Amino acid sequence: MTITTAAAVIDGQSRANDKATSRAAMDPSTGEVIAEVPVADGTMVDDAVRSARSAFDSWTDTTPLERDEYLNALADKLIENQRELGDLEARNTGKPRQVAFDEVAGAADQLRFFGGAARVLEGKAAREYVRGRTSFIRRDPVGVIGQITPWNYPLVMAAWKIGPALAAGNTVVLKPSELTPLSTLRLAELAADILPPGVLNVVAGDGGTGEALSTHQDVDMVCVTGSVGTGQRVLRAAADRVKRTHLELGGKAPVIVFKDANIDRLAERLKVASFWNAGQDCTAACRILVHDSVYDDVLAALVPAVESLRVGGPFTGEPTDLGPVISALQRERVHGFIDRAVDAGAEIITGGSARSGSGYFVDPTILGNVGADSEVVRSEVFGPVITVQRFTDEDQALAMANGVDYGLSASVWTENLGRSLRMSRRLQFGAVWLNDHLTTADEMPHGGYKMSGYGKDLSTYAIEDYTVVKHIMARID
Ligand code: NAD
Repeated sequence: MTITTAAAVIDGQSRANDKATSRAAMDPSTGEVIAEVPVADGTMVDDAVRSARSAFDSWTDTTPLERDEYLNALADKLIENQRELGDLEARNTGKPRQVAFDEVAGAADQLRFFGGAARVLEGKAAREYVRGRTSFIRRDPVGVIGQITPWNYPLVMAAWKIGPALAAGNTVVLKPSELTPLSTLRLAELAADILPPGVLNVVAGDGGTGEALSTHQDVDMVCVTGSVGTGQRVLRAAADRVKRTHLELGGKAPVIVFKDANIDRLAERLKVASFWNAGQDCTAACRILVHDSVYDDVLAALVPAVESLRVGGPFTGEPTDLGPVISALQRERVHGFIDRAVDAGAEIITGGSARSGSGYFVDPTILGNVGADSEVVRSEVFGPVITVQRFTDEDQALAMANGVDYGLSASVWTENLGRSLRMSRRLQFGAVWLNDHLTTADEMPHGGYKMSGYGKDLSTYAIEDYTVVKHIMARID
């Protein structure tokens, strides 16, 4: 049975769009259509932006405590509806149900964090930098924010975006991915009972809807989590109005393993960090760089760990570690990377073969003997595929790690404190883990170097990104 959803939630009201084309939302574990979601057109985007604009003045006049209370009430609402939201997420992404339930709890906690953070946001202390004049700093909201999210963690990405934007006193129009709009539309319906109308608007749709939002004359700032190509298109469009942008783009995380690393701990962690969410994670541990002397030992520990992962759909009743990739197209894309790597001489250490059946499953795959400049080493696969390469010294490891266009996250595995600190200083990545990989904390920033984008999600840095620093100077003589 397929459900028909709203095309948008605008001004606190669900809006249909009878004339619109619709897009099918799928269950990637079965290939079945689960919903027909209308595409919000330019008129609806216009309405959503108008609604956000008219809500702005009174929202920005709320006190930080009031915004904290609103965001906490929304977090409570997510928890009250955790099973429904989690099942919707598992159905639309194919991820394990418990993981989806945990993500709902995570999204709620992120909203609570940003509610609290609203109350400690401050400018620098006032001072007389010029005789007879007092200067002080305000951090004002930017205005109406257009936000665009991807399909890998739909609800969590929505929380990462709306939490800091609303906490800082902005109003929002958010467009979820056309592949996974269901949980975000439901979040907007739940929010309509809590937030004043117009503070949070959601429009469903594809890249065209995203473009209508990001190019809208009355949107003051555009925030994207997505691919580099989408980030570049949004950035070019933003140039016309010199709009603020906030870009969380792809990643290609290196994992640098020195000869003194704890290999058992490494293998246990990579089993999770490389294959979490079927590898569809911008921080996935996907380029394993190993000191030549321990290469065989690392594979001896890693291969059985990876082969123990259980792949399957969320509603089979069987325990699983990872689900399918998001779409048939994504499965084809991932296998395309594997096939081209093999054609170029790569060795499949485990996985790699195409699965039959209707779901979009890909076996966890390890590729060895890959060239330093090969496509699979330099481009983001965004699936359960990792490469293993050898290095002989620290400088070579660093050059290999930094030698890609991405700069989101990296990890270093060594018991040598000096080496780990030296490496973390020289690695050009927004997050560096030492003897760990993938763990995030809501209190700590997430964001990249280089083509992984700029601006921070999570932490008080995210809230600052949604403000304009204003200098006020008064004559006091
Ligand atoms: P995508 O770029 O295809 O789509 C992302 C969003 O942008 C979708 O909502 C899409 O509809 C919209 N979009 C597409 N074209 C647009 C345009 N011209 N103007 C405005 N919006 C447009 O990315 P995806 O395939 O949904 O997600 C996977 C990508 O996201 C990967 O590259 C991954 O690394 C990245 N990602 C990054 C982070 C991070 O924090 N850095 C987190 C998650 C995912």
